[in-house]
Amino acid sequence: MLPVATQPIEVLNRVFGYDAFRGEQAEIIDHVTGGGDALVLMPTGGGKSLCYQIPALARPGVGVVVSPLIALMQDQVDALRALGVRAGFLNSTQGPEERRETEAAFVAGELDLLYLAPERLRVESTLRLLDRGSIALFAIDEAHCVAQWGHDFRPDYLALSELHQRWPDIPRIALTATATEATRTEIAARLDLTEARHFVASFDRPNIQYRIEPKNEPRRQLIELLKNEHAGDAGIVYCLSRASVEKTAEFLTGQGYPALPYHAGLDARTRSENQARFLREDGVIMVATIAFGMGIDKPDVRFVAHLDLPKSVEGYYQETGRAGRDGLPSTAWLAYGLADVVQQRKMINDSDGDLAHRRRLSQHLDAMLALCETVECRRTQLLAYFGQAGEPCGNCDTCLTPPETWDGTVAAQKVLSTVYRLDKERRQRFGAGQIVDILLGRRTPKVEQFSHDQLSVFGVGTELTEADWRTVIRQLLAQGLLAVEGTYQTFLLTELSRGVLYENRTVSLRRDPPRQAKSRSRTSS
Ligand code: ADP
Ligand code: ZN
Repeated sequence: MLPVATQPIEVLNRVFGYDAFRGEQAEIIDHVTGGGDALVLMPTGGGKSLCYQIPALARPGVGVVVSPLIALMQDQVDALRALGVRAGFLNSTQGPEERRETEAAFVAGELDLLYLAPERLRVESTLRLLDRGSIALFAIDEAHCVAQWGHDFRPDYLALSELHQRWPDIPRIALTATATEATRTEIAARLDLTEARHFVASFDRPNIQYRIEPKNEPRRQLIELLKNEHAGDAGIVYCLSRASVEKTAEFLTGQGYPALPYHAGLDARTRSENQARFLREDGVIMVATIAFGMGIDKPDVRFVAHLDLPKSVEGYYQETGRAGRDGLPSTAWLAYGLADVVQQRKMINDSDGDLAHRRRLSQHLDAMLALCETVECRRTQLLAYFGQAGEPCGNCDTCLTPPETWDGTVAAQKVLSTVYRLDKERRQRFGAGQIVDILLGRRTPKVEQFSHDQLSVFGVGTELTEADWRTVIRQLLAQGLLAVEGTYQTFLLTELSRGVLYENRTVSLRRDPPRQAKSRSRTSS
């Protein structure tokens, strides 16, 4: 039994200064303190750290924490030391002197927590070091890194299954904020955590309002969000590329907003300065690639805006989850358009890796697109993706203004017929613009050059506007009724599109919310 002074609740009060456990923290901590293995799924900001920190303090020996976030180790250790917890880390950023000191402290039992980069555990000398000390538990943070798709640290994480063979009696706790049912099963299998108890917290973030709108004039849309709803608030604006990060940050600064750029191409000093200002000052807007945010613990981020489409629902959830950690109302806003879909499909086509890998990326994108195009509650759809049930939330955009659907079968047939005709001229590249020009019957130079005014579909689509047609094409892409091919953004028919062309398959489309009059002006003539 534990000495009375080290009961978890007392550690929580005395060391961390908190009154009560949150959610399942108490159960998890009891289970691990008692020597059980655990797999913990908890959304970002849910309080995962305490789930291994307190058992590490309550059990004899040192808690060994495996984390890929090397850049954060120093901060984490400093924060723990400030609370009187004896913490240290071993990673590649350290000098030999510092390393030796930490190693000596570990062996002497003078540490409560030791943070390790995962690659350390593939080095025999580290394993021998661990043999010389007494270990309270192993915590494996960011455990989804072991899963199959696209994770940089995967080989290091796969090696972690050996911890169990080498130290069968030491409890292990794996933690992640991103896991579908499938990923969870994979984590348990790969880390040899078959006996572990699973703790799955709700992924619902009720204080976050999810909104996804068509990208028309992204800068104007972003400014409207800032001006009308988030004046003076701290927030994150995510962009896909470094270049658009720079340009967007400059634009916002020019408009009088305190915006800072953050991406992997900036030098380390600028990055850490910008990050520090974001954390320390009020109302700073961080314009960033997804390189920014892992492990950032800023409670009052009031909005997360995506100017480009995230590659997966996991990514979207993780990034939007950085808003509203303090529980106060916050906005997750995303603008996306046809060009996003085309670009991402193309990136997947062009990516290295085998077919299976590309197919996985495609599935992830499809799930993200389904979330964008849904007419149901966004939150319900998001939770369903993580295998959790929920009621319509009444707070997301689709709950507040339910989008209409319309029978887009004829429109779809028109687009697909046009693609079919253009498909015969495969040596040429024709993007969405050409399809729209043909449907609207516009005799542009490019239409005339290729005699597209001779096609039977020329001018058959004047009942819709250019914007409407782009929306139709976007949704056909999202529904897999159209594909994008090759280096150029060429459209192709798919197996599914044949059903629409030849088998009377109906197509239901979502009507985009009406836009402001001035941006509606580019209709056909
Ligand atoms: P995660 O790793 O799940 O993203 P953290 O462990 O960093 O989350 O915790 C998020 C924030 O919540 C931290 O500031 C942490 O101190 C705080 N926190 C965690 N548990 C509690 C609790 N029981 N009571 C109050 N604050 C807590
Ligand atoms: Zn809703």
